[in-house]
Amino acid sequence: MRKHIVAGNWKMNCTFSEADDLINAIMEQLEQKELPRDTQLIVCPPFPYLEMTTDYANDSYFMVGAQNVSDQEKGAYTGEVSAAMLESMEIDYCIVGHSERRAYYGETNATVAAKVNQLLQHGIKPIVCVGEVLEEREAGKQFEVVKKQVEQGLFHLSADQLREVVIAYEPVWAIGTGKTATPDQAQEIHAHIRSLLATKYGKEIANDISILYGGSCKPSNAKELFACPDIDGGLIGGASLKADDFMAIAMAF
Ligand code: PEP
Repeated sequence: MRKHIVAGNWKMNCTFSEADDLINAIMEQLEQKELPRDTQLIVCPPFPYLEMTTDYANDSYFMVGAQNVSDQEKGAYTGEVSAAMLESMEIDYCIVGHSERRAYYGETNATVAAKVNQLLQHGIKPIVCVGEVLEEREAGKQFEVVKKQVEQGLFHLSADQLREVVIAYEPVWAIGTGKTATPDQAQEIHAHIRSLLATKYGKEIANDISILYGGSCKPSNAKELFACPDIDGGLIGGASLKADDFMAIAMAF
């Protein structure tokens, strides 16, 4: 059965000491509270704090993810970070195709597919983000947009490779805006994604893939969202920067 996952995307936030404080605050909470069964907590800090985070994670109950990876293997790509580097630091997960990367750094579905390949070759689980922008939702195109992102980003994978992937549905109009998709709006897209996976890979595999919701998820709405049958957790931005809120979301199953 698929895992419940709550992943914190810190984005470009925190100085070194703030990052240290935040991880310690999360660890303190983990010492006091037991996570619901089958719930995996993932912390995705900025690159410079990955080493510190993996050091702490060794003594605790969370896994570590990066926020980005290069689509190239190695070489003259100044400023890039490769999947081989992440593997050598024992990073477990990596976010790919976040809407901010698509919007500000020109990431396309083809880039997403190449990054997914890099990660899988190096044993890192991709968290692949998909989701429509406001104009697409207003035009009723959300199903079509998400279908294209899933097909072009993932459908070149074998069934065994797909089993390593986590998908995050993040309606762009809900990210960092305080506007959350209603549980019904989120559930219908999650069910749509699962049915796309079932058509291509079969029902059994589709049922094993964790599909997370992201977009202004917070302690006050997490329970309702996570109660939906096809929502297997959350990718959490703003609320992951407060240990209390992040942990409250993780306890919402
Ligand atoms: C995100 O960036 O992945 C995200 C979901 O952000 P927020 O929770 O702040 O909307």
